[in-house]
Amino acid sequence: MVHGTTSDDSTAYRALPSLDRLLAAAPGLIESHGRSEATQALRQVLAEARSGIGEGRPAPDSQALLAAAESHLAARASPRLKRVFNLTGTVLHTNLGRAVLPEEAIAAMVAAARSPCALEYDVDTGGRGDRDDVVNALLQELTGAEAATVVNNNAAAVFLLLNTLAQRKEVIVSRGELVEIGGAFRVPDIMKRAGARLVEVGCTNRTHPRDFEDAIGPRTGLLMKIHTSNYAIEGFTASVAQADMARIAHARGLPFVEDLGSGTLTDLERWGLPHEPTPREAIANGADLVSFSCDKLLGGPQAGILVGRKDLIARIKKNPLKRALRVGKITLAGLEAVLRLYRDPDTLAERLTTLRLLTRPRDEMLAQAERLQACVTAALAGWPLTVSIEPMLSQIGSGSLPVDRLPSAGLVFRPQGRKSGVLNKLEAALRGLPVPVIGRIADNALHLDLRCLPAADEASFAAQLAQGFKPC
Ligand SMILES: *Cc1c(COP(=O)(O)O)cnc(C)c1O
Repeated sequence: MVHGTTSDDSTAYRALPSLDRLLAAAPGLIESHGRSEATQALRQVLAEARSGIGEGRPAPDSQALLAAAESHLAARASPRLKRVFNLTGTVLHTNLGRAVLPEEAIAAMVAAARSPCALEYDVDTGGRGDRDDVVNALLQELTGAEAATVVNNNAAAVFLLLNTLAQRKEVIVSRGELVEIGGAFRVPDIMKRAGARLVEVGCTNRTHPRDFEDAIGPRTGLLMKIHTSNYAIEGFTASVAQADMARIAHARGLPFVEDLGSGTLTDLERWGLPHEPTPREAIANGADLVSFSCDKLLGGPQAGILVGRKDLIARIKKNPLKRALRVGKITLAGLEAVLRLYRDPDTLAERLTTLRLLTRPRDEMLAQAERLQACVTAALAGWPLTVSIEPMLSQIGSGSLPVDRLPSAGLVFRPQGRKSGVLNKLEAALRGLPVPVIGRIADNALHLDLRCLPAADEASFAAQLAQGFKPC
C-alpha cells in the first residue's frame, strides 16, 4: 500500500487533539516544566503522531500524547552530568570524576556557592587579598614548603612551572620518566607547548647522576623529576635519587622540580597502603618546586598545587597564564576543608572519603555482597547468568600506586553455557538504570566490585535493581 492522504488518514489526523486542548489538559506539565517547555514538548509529540499516521499507525489519544510529552520533558530535565554507581573496582576513576569529596568539603563548597566570600579580600585590613592565601598557610604546614599556589589541575601546574622557569630553555628529564597520562597529558608535548626544550638523558631502565651532570649547559633551565604514576620499570634499573638531583642542580645554580602526580599529604603506610611519595618528602629531599593533583589520593576537588621556594612561587604567580589557570572560590573552599582534615591523622581515614574507600577491609565488601546477592539474583531471574560472590582486587586508579592492588570482593555474573553476548546486554541494562551501575567485564564475566558502594546507598541500589531492571 502506498501511504498518502487517504480518507482513513484524514479521519486519523482529525482525531488528534489540538495543541490548545492538550495544553488545557496538562496543567501539571506546565507547572513542573514551564509553559514554553510544555508547549514545545506537546508540539513535538503531535508532530510525531502525525508522521506516525502518515506511516499507517493509528492516532494516539490525548492521554498517550500527554504521557509521551511527560517523558520527553523528564528526559530534557534530567542532568547530563549523572550520578552513577562506580563498581568498576577503580576508586579514583578519571572518567567517573575521580575523588568523591568528604562532607566537610561539600558543606564548604555549598556555602561558598551560596554567598559572597572574602576570596581576594583581606577582612582584617579591608585591602585586597590573594586567593592563594585561603590555603597557603595550610599547605606550608602540611608540606614544609615556603609558599604555595593553586591552579586548575596538575597538568596546569606543570605547564605553568615550565612556562615560567624554562621558556626557551632546556629541561633535563630521565628517559625512564617521560610519562603519558591518559593520552592528553604527555610530558614531551606539555614541555613543547610551555616553550621549553626537553633534553632526555639516560636510558629507559637506567639513568645515573653523571647523565644529568653531562647534560647541563648554558641553556639549561631546570632539572625535572616526574613520578612514574601509571607504570613501573622493573628489573635491571637505576634512577637518580631526588637528593642527588637536587645537589647536581644546586651546584650549577639551577632549580630542581618534581611532578609528583598524585600527591598524598600523609604517609599511607600507616593504613597498610603502599608508600606514595609526599610533597613534604620531596621538599625535604631538596626539590625547589613540587606539583601534585588535588583530586587523586589527596581526595579533594579538581585542582593542581605547586609548593616550594617563595621566590619561584612568586615568579609563577606573576605569569599572566596564572590568571588563565586559576581556580574559583568553590574549588578553594572545598580544598581548604579537605586540607584541614589532614591536621588530624587519627580521624583522617574516617572523614576523608577517598581514604575511607581505599582502606575498607575485604570483609566489609563480602558482607555487602551477601546482603545483596538474593535481590540481585531475583532481579536477574530469566537471564542466562549465574551470580556469585567472589574475592577481587581493586585498583587505586588515576595513576596512583600503579602496581598495587587492594583486596576486595563483589558480585560476579557469568554466562550460562556459551551465551557470552549476554554480558554486554547485562552491562547495558545496568547502565540504563536511573542511577547507572558501572561494572567491569573481564575474563568472560561481569564484575561489580562493592568497594565504592557506600553502605548508606545499599538500599537504593537494591531497590532500583528490583524495580527498574528489564527482563532479558
Ligand atoms: C595525573 C598526573 C598528572 C596530571 O594531573 P591532573 O590533575 O590530572 O591534571 C601529571 N603528572 C603526573 C605524573 C600525573 O600522575
